Amino acid sequence: MNAQGLHTQSPPGAPADAAALKELYAQYNQNTEKLRLAFERLERRFREIDPYNIYNSITEALITLDRDENILTCNAAAERIFELNAHQAAGRSFRDALPMCVRSFEDHAERADPGARYEIHFRNSGGDPMYLRGRYSPLLDRNGDEIGYTCLFTDHSVERLLEEKARRQDRLTALGELAAGVAHEMRNPLTTIRGYLQILPDNKDDDEFIHEFSDNLIREIDRLTRLTDNLLNMAKPISPELRRVCLSETVTAVADFLADKLKSGGVSVEIEESAESFPVRVDVDRIRQVFINLFVNAAEAMSDGGRVFVRLSRRTETFSSDEDPTVFVVAEVADNGPGIPPQLIDRLFDPFFTTKDTGTGLGLSLTNRIVEEHGGFIRVESAAGEGARFWVFLPEADESKG
Ligand code: ADP
Ligand code: MG
Repeated sequence: MNAQGLHTQSPPGAPADAAALKELYAQYNQNTEKLRLAFERLERRFREIDPYNIYNSITEALITLDRDENILTCNAAAERIFELNAHQAAGRSFRDALPMCVRSFEDHAERADPGARYEIHFRNSGGDPMYLRGRYSPLLDRNGDEIGYTCLFTDHSVERLLEEKARRQDRLTALGELAAGVAHEMRNPLTTIRGYLQILPDNKDDDEFIHEFSDNLIREIDRLTRLTDNLLNMAKPISPELRRVCLSETVTAVADFLADKLKSGGVSVEIEESAESFPVRVDVDRIRQVFINLFVNAAEAMSDGGRVFVRLSRRTETFSSDEDPTVFVVAEVADNGPGIPPQLIDRLFDPFFTTKDTGTGLGLSLTNRIVEEHGGFIRVESAAGEGARFWVFLPEADESKG
């Protein structure tokens, strides 16, 4: 041990201790800063999760009512969507302040289905269409006692507008495709007619040619006539005057109307008897067209004769969780012909899709359109060699309406 070694054990207050203290102080400062930051973060979180902010930040309109259906509170979205002022609205009767919601509110009271959602449609003061989906539930206090109602509305006006736009675009595209198809379908017979006319002067004394000439011209002109007839039918909108009829009567009438024609081709139509009635509200002429097309197609598919079998039934379909189930009257038209190969099924309803030399390919496309315009749809099932089976779904007529 040397003399210098003694100096390392300095008494308190000596410079070495000052360094330690400084270090300690710095650490203290650092920790306080950390604490301060943590506190700030916490405070911010606290502000952020303030129920008031949540209430006013959600995009759904939230309105609470007391037991007498007077407005208690409206959040910011409710003020915006319903053009209300929360302060002025408080205390007002819900029915007076929001007349557009009254029907759905009453529906809810009647059905008492807590999960049910209601479509609400109105125009705002600027004339813009508003589409809301509303939901009503009890307003509970801290003890879980019912003290009024909570009304929650989702605004889906923008989606609706976009959907509408897309539908319009689809229609335009379909129209473009149809026009292109028509042009194509017309060009073939016109080319044939032109070809024959061109060589007519040189062959006008050839009896055989004249025969062929007139046969072919008539065939091509018939084809053009069929095409225009079908197109006219296609363009015809369904009558706004729908009639309530029993679908089995319409189907039977069509079968009777076609009976002779079908019988000559060895085809019989059998309609299953039923004691039930199948009420639908339809443009009868157009619905007759639907079954004419289906029966004629079946008969054309069974050139060696066969059997068309028709059965009516009733079916309930639900398309999405927020829609009410719809009751449909279903007409099943089945034949025992060659059926439709699976690779063609998807194209059946395309305009101009045909496997026949003299076909227009417009029958099923028109059939589908008529059914859709009645709020229905068509399903088809077939395997080659097993016959074809079509189901026509039409919404059942409301009992209460004539
Ligand atoms: P078209 O009868 O003028 O050919 P459609 O639109 O009525 O036009 O029918 C399109 C195609 O669907 C037919 O060409 C045929 O190939 C097929 N098809 C329709 N119905 C049947 C059926 N019952 N059995 C077999 N094939 C069918
Ligand atoms: Mg057809």
